[in-house]
Amino acid sequence: MLSQRATRIKPSPTLAIDSKAKAMKASGIDVINFGVGEPDFDTPEHIKEAAVKAMKDGFTKYTPVGGIDALKDAIIEKFKSDNGLSYNREEIIVSCGAKHSLYNIAQALYGPGDEVIIPSPYWVSYPDQVLLNDATPVIVKTFESDSFMIRPEVLENAVTKKTKALILNSPSNPTGMIYNRETLGKIAELAVKHNFYIISDEIYEKLIYDGARHVSIASLGDEVKGKTLVVNGLSKSHAMTGWRLGYAAGPADIIKAMTNIQSQSTSNPTSITQKAAVEALTGPQDFIDEMLREFDQRRRYIVSELSALDHISCAMPSGAFYAFPNTSRIYGRRYGDKTISSSGDLALYLLEEAKVALVHGQAFGDDDYIRLSYATSLEDIRKGIERIREALSKLEVQG
Ligand code: PMP
Ligand code: GLU
Repeated sequence: MLSQRATRIKPSPTLAIDSKAKAMKASGIDVINFGVGEPDFDTPEHIKEAAVKAMKDGFTKYTPVGGIDALKDAIIEKFKSDNGLSYNREEIIVSCGAKHSLYNIAQALYGPGDEVIIPSPYWVSYPDQVLLNDATPVIVKTFESDSFMIRPEVLENAVTKKTKALILNSPSNPTGMIYNRETLGKIAELAVKHNFYIISDEIYEKLIYDGARHVSIASLGDEVKGKTLVVNGLSKSHAMTGWRLGYAAGPADIIKAMTNIQSQSTSNPTSITQKAAVEALTGPQDFIDEMLREFDQRRRYIVSELSALDHISCAMPSGAFYAFPNTSRIYGRRYGDKTISSSGDLALYLLEEAKVALVHGQAFGDDDYIRLSYATSLEDIRKGIERIREALSKLEVQG
């Protein structure tokens, strides 16, 4: 029989939809994939070369569990120059992806009786990682009219004696919104006052538009820095999803516990990837600007096209590479003998009828929306939107 914890969770819906879309494609079906959040750019050549060199040099053995010093130093330098944060090596851990760093945090901090506050819409893995560690996710809804930022007074109401942590994600997957400094300041005060940790997932930090600024909540003062674990990684910024490299920074005792957990579970992140990561962080960064220009063009295009569809509204996201349109006015419409009553029904209808893969809002805790990743070519976006338009025009009003 399976463990209780294994039965509490579901597979990552974003990865599940991606697999389904890729399987349909492999079987010859022409699917447009807006499903997974993965840059469609290749990893820059100079980063690949660093990995090849590492291999040729025989850097193919175990490394220290929490990462090699050269990489920790590159991460320390990144925090200093990008975020105005100063850490030492004992306050840094390198893991097999940001997801793995988040999981190490969950293992190190959460346990039975603990509550972890997660503003919704949330990234799919947060609640399940809490459940895997026998704690309780406390979902607090946020609203488009507040740019999907949790209101500090609402957060304070959700805090109890059991609150262990708050998970923040800015820029956000799936909404693309960015927290402003003022709101972060109020949240920081609450964390200090009520003594809970902030898990700040900043993996989309580099993907921001219109001159917006990313602020790390840990940079707002020493007290909040002592309560914050900052998580970041190279998957999105350097188009390195398959390399599996993420990292976290925070209080030394927690980082040490996470390193112990890692030493008993995965050991070090791949040695070759670590060398590539040093190059990614310390080498030329102009690739990011090029990628960003391309994403920005797609962002404007997809949002204006989605907004032009009947019964759909779509706010302009300030970061990441997702459009998050409100589709609730479509619910209740029918095709044949079926009714579309939820984002899940709509996503399934679009996959089957229009051959367009995207993620239902339910996966992110908000059924009123769907998520489209625009990390795909403009040509595919144009085709995909056209297919959606046609499929939606076939729906009939109930009655
Ligand atoms: N956090 C967020 C918000 C994400 O969208 C992702 C994407 N997979 C991750 C963490 C994990 O990224 P990775 O494990 O590839 O570093
Ligand atoms: N973060 C990406 C997404 O939301 C990758 C999928 C995943 O890691 O679950 O699509």
